[in-house]
Amino acid sequence: MAADDRPDYDAIIIGAGMSGLYQLYRLRELGLRVRVFEAGTGVGGTWYWNRYPGARFDSESYSYAYSFSQELLDEWNWSEHFAGQPETLRYINHVADRFDLRRDIQFRSRVTAAHWQEPTRRWDVTLEDGSRHTARFLITAIGPLSAPTMPRIEGVESFQGQSCHTARWPHEPVSFAGKRVAVIGTGATGVQTISEVAKTAGHLTVFQRTPNWCKPLHNGPIDPETQIRIKANYDEMFRRCQETFACFIHTTDPRGTFEVTPEEREAFFEQQYATPGFAMWQGNFRDMLTSREANALVSDFVARKIRERVKDPKVAEKLIPKDHGFGTRRVPMETRYYEVYNQPNVELVDIKETPIERITPTGIKTSAAEYAFDIIIYATGFDAITGSFDRIDIRGADGLRLKDKWASGPQTYLGVLVEDFPNMMMLMGPHTALGNIPRSIEYNVEWVTGLLRHARDHGLTRVEATAAGVQSWTDHVKSLGVGLLSNEVDSWMTGINRNVEGKQTRIIARYSGSAPAYRERCDKVAADGYRELELM
Ligand SMILES: Cc1cc2nc3c(=O)[nH]c(=O)nc-3n(C[C@H](O)[C@H](O)[C@H](O)COP(=O)(O)OP(=O)(O)OC[C@H]3O[C@@H](n4cnc5c(N)ncnc54)[C@H](O)[C@@H]3O)c2cc1C
Repeated sequence: MAADDRPDYDAIIIGAGMSGLYQLYRLRELGLRVRVFEAGTGVGGTWYWNRYPGARFDSESYSYAYSFSQELLDEWNWSEHFAGQPETLRYINHVADRFDLRRDIQFRSRVTAAHWQEPTRRWDVTLEDGSRHTARFLITAIGPLSAPTMPRIEGVESFQGQSCHTARWPHEPVSFAGKRVAVIGTGATGVQTISEVAKTAGHLTVFQRTPNWCKPLHNGPIDPETQIRIKANYDEMFRRCQETFACFIHTTDPRGTFEVTPEEREAFFEQQYATPGFAMWQGNFRDMLTSREANALVSDFVARKIRERVKDPKVAEKLIPKDHGFGTRRVPMETRYYEVYNQPNVELVDIKETPIERITPTGIKTSAAEYAFDIIIYATGFDAITGSFDRIDIRGADGLRLKDKWASGPQTYLGVLVEDFPNMMMLMGPHTALGNIPRSIEYNVEWVTGLLRHARDHGLTRVEATAAGVQSWTDHVKSLGVGLLSNEVDSWMTGINRNVEGKQTRIIARYSGSAPAYRERCDKVAADGYRELELM
């Protein structure tokens, strides 16, 4: 192709979170001309947007960090086992500075459309300001949890106090002292927010639709001795993360729930409940998420803990999930969450019993009462996994819209490519391994980089998944979901969001196999010279 026919860039990356930054780093290393478009004013993605009180890791800080640079590992000291959002954002900014990434990132640049142009084999990308940019390859790094959703309640706009969505939290501090505060939502974010806000709010009212099974985080500072040990063991820890099912340092116990005595089981649950982080979710008996009887036992254990911790038995019962078992939805990690409900300044409203009818100029009206508030916090989560794709007008060959292509659920090849959308690669999109996400990010970025290197070395200008490849991967992903209790439950993992039109039917949105099996499959495709793809 003649030089003046060259697109503006070899690759455009959308998003400057953990995925986009690392992809930029690797493609620059390959010598490609890369541009990153990011809607926010800074890097960090999740950790840039989610500045709500109490926002912090559920992954151990050191297991979440990038592993690709020994110097970066050596020089960065995490202060806590589960760092808070400000520290993580500082870390990501440090990475951006250290590797001089900002010069290829354009902030305040929301991508509104991306259209494939077959004659020139390039992507034509449009930003919110109307400017257009072309690239041979388009890489989406737009986040599995980055498209916030507001509840579909009448009157949201009418409230005259302050209202904040947790994922669009103001950059200035918000004071709750002496204020009447409402939190709507009790998912992972709601639980973190509630525990923090309850410390200072004059009065806090929690509006709960679905209680979740929460487990103590057991966070703590990292003392100097532990810091040295962590640093000395990075290699071993990352190796372990490569071997575990979902890239956490925790992994499934090989025993079945009923292969031990009731006393051993109780002791094991106690020990897991006392272990920091996701141990009880990711490191439980091997049948916890497939056997109803096994799941009932661990659920009963956690229910007893809730009853012990919440003084008012009626409130405790409201906080115990009745429609799903432990671990079948994402398990929120908490720090004195249940104890919050023993405080005189905190009230729990079950909106399944007394639904919210509307937001009023002064507060919230349920079917039973009217409440006045100074601040309403919407901890109502995200249009997960496919939401950030739906918000961009992505069109592939023959003008086919991605949203239409995925109307009855995503169809992908390895969670990275989509038939009819040539030269588009997804990082942390549907049907890929998630788990402890940066571990999966690093792998996917390496894989995409390998594919682009192959394209460059072989003078390829068009890379596309085949129909057969997509069918086979999509069938595989669906088959992995069979028998999992989590697939029988409404949650963002099964594509349900009552606040988003058209997301009321369960789909298989994520890969639920093991990360090692995922990598093995992808490695094989690369080792075979990407022959499963259509390359031109
Ligand atoms: C509160 C919270 C806590 C979490 N804790 C953990 C944890 O402990 N462990 C874990 O493994 N994972 C956790 N996650 C998941 C987290 O999203 C991932 O760990 C990781 O940050 C994803 O990185 P990403 O770069 O793929 O996506 P994101 O961090 O979501 O970044 C996507 C970026 O794309 C940008 N973008 C999206 N659409 C457009 C567009 N159209 N135009 C321009 N820019 C766009 C966004 O502005 C954003 O900056 C958490 C998520 C949340 C919300």
